[in-house]
Amino acid sequence: MTLAETPFPIRTSGDPLRHDWRRDELRALFELPLSELIFSAQTVHREFFDPSSVQLSTLLSIKTGGCPEDCAYCPQSAHYETGVNAEKLMPLDKVLAEARAARDAGASRFCMGAAWRSPKDRDLDQVCAMIEGVKALGLETCVTLGMLTQPQAHRLKDAGLDYYNHNLDTSPEFYGKIISTRTYDDRLDTLENVRSAGIHVCCGGIVGMGETREDRIGMILTLANLPVHPESVPINMLVRVAGTPLAETPPLDAIEFVRTIAVARITMPRSMVRLSAGRETMSEETQALCFLAGANSIFCGPKLLTTRNPERDRDRGLMDRLGLSPMG
Ligand code: SF4
Repeated sequence: MTLAETPFPIRTSGDPLRHDWRRDELRALFELPLSELIFSAQTVHREFFDPSSVQLSTLLSIKTGGCPEDCAYCPQSAHYETGVNAEKLMPLDKVLAEARAARDAGASRFCMGAAWRSPKDRDLDQVCAMIEGVKALGLETCVTLGMLTQPQAHRLKDAGLDYYNHNLDTSPEFYGKIISTRTYDDRLDTLENVRSAGIHVCCGGIVGMGETREDRIGMILTLANLPVHPESVPINMLVRVAGTPLAETPPLDAIEFVRTIAVARITMPRSMVRLSAGRETMSEETQALCFLAGANSIFCGPKLLTTRNPERDRDRGLMDRLGLSPMG
């Protein structure tokens, strides 16, 4: 099927955002010839974004390892032997030093991740101080702390938090094969608590976990049909970490990953689509295709929580060759 033959209009500039995507529509997008899919994604992307501009974010693990959850991809889960040791919450001055260094290296957004099922109220005091300190450096803030109650979300909002990250990870159908310690509905509840506190939502998932294309469709369908699209949609390629149950999962075809990015861009036109984990082993050509497909943010710095990420110089070189500049 070509673009002209799809049974639905992709989008005309100025159209309202849709929240009623159907599975057959997303399937038809995935099945387009790659040139048609990239053309559609670029057209949509240019309505809301400068296609040469990419946001640079930095992600710091402020509390590493020892997590009681059993996410099958995660080296920080206490259920698996991965060599990641449990650490205490990082002190404020160290977090602020990292944030300052990230800002000086060109980052405009600083994300902090803690390996918790959900934060305790006393933990939140320290996290709130981190948010206030990072904001005072002129950086956009994002935290990911696990499940959140509504009062906790309000506390984070009062500290000035811009974004809360809580991924759906995958489709509702495949979810049970990846996590057993919390439900899909638990995740949706946290997203609702974050949204109702007035915090922007960062929510995406991971592909390459052995799911089918129908699962990738199901994940994007869920995200794109939320009452408000997540302002930020990280799409991660599984990093296969030794010791986790997914360590031996066959790698996903790179073009299928690019297609997933493009469908996220088309269905959530105003959202930042973040090319997140998995870039360390991704070719520069695949990353270039992801940018063409509408990805407009990457994480910079040699570490992404506990896994490796390209060095800053490598990213700078790639952006120069592609003519991309950091988003202000
Ligand atoms: S992904 Fe988050 S919640 Fe899941 S095991 Fe890792 S740190 Fe814990």
